[in-house]
Amino acid sequence: MDSPLAPGLYIVATPIGNLGDLSPRALAVLRGVAAVACEDTRVTGGLLHKFGVKQKLIRYDDHADAGAAERLLAIARSSPLALVSDAGTPLISDPGYRLVRAARAAGIAVVSIPGPSAVVTALTLAGLPSDRFVFAGFLPSKAKARGEVLAEFAAVRATLVFYETAPRLDAALAAVAQVLPGRDVAVARELTKKFEECRTGTPDELRAHYGAHPPKGEIVLLVAPPGAVVPDVHAVDALLQQALQSAKPSQAASEIARKTGLDRKELYARALQLK
Ligand code: SAM
Repeated sequence: MDSPLAPGLYIVATPIGNLGDLSPRALAVLRGVAAVACEDTRVTGGLLHKFGVKQKLIRYDDHADAGAAERLLAIARSSPLALVSDAGTPLISDPGYRLVRAARAAGIAVVSIPGPSAVVTALTLAGLPSDRFVFAGFLPSKAKARGEVLAEFAAVRATLVFYETAPRLDAALAAVAQVLPGRDVAVARELTKKFEECRTGTPDELRAHYGAHPPKGEIVLLVAPPGAVVPDVHAVDALLQQALQSAKPSQAASEIARKTGLDRKELYARALQLK
């Protein structure tokens, strides 16, 4: 860094696996700040050590008491202060939002040093539509809440991106198959690391694969937008027939149109035939 950093809060993205992804600018900022606020001082201390950087580390997460944020803002008012998370971009399913909000309210400069994030990395690998996507963080761990969140997104015409964990992947895929039938999915795993992989298919295909090869490591789950994949005609009939058990043809057509993204009028015509 040529000149000393101005005071302010520097949001610094760090690698999600591959150390080569720390940008030169991020490294210069991490060297040049007065202190680094981080989620876990051991994790960040280990990262900085690998780059030969010795820094004052201050533990911070969004649930820390209000005093913790105030103390950080007091530093950022007069000196450069970095915020990092354990991996990737701070604030993206990680702490930082409250601190940034408070800094802005206090008139403290906020500077972002962009870099790796699993959401964008996964999107660039999956081959699903990327012109519109919704990042929805982690799905709830309880089955009912998970189904409700997926149902909320049923009508959204965008690729859905969720963070997942290996032990919960099977349940998440099963929920997608049930609540969003006819959607292809992608599982992006261990991104930027030695065993990086990205698999696409139907939820049932991926459940079968990961049933035989239990997944390890960190996972991003992507769900294709409605209508991106045309479900086969028998599957659509089965969905309509199931809906017709408790709904009129028009309601059944609306419900299945919402779930699959198929044309409501065509579904209505088919529902009348099936009735
Ligand atoms: N701030 C990070 C970012 O910008 O991606 C995300 C932090 S969030 C607490 C951790 C989750 O991100 C993991 O459970 C996983 O879903 C996803 N993730 C992080 N690194 C990953 C990687 N290398 N490969 C796949 N998913 C990853």
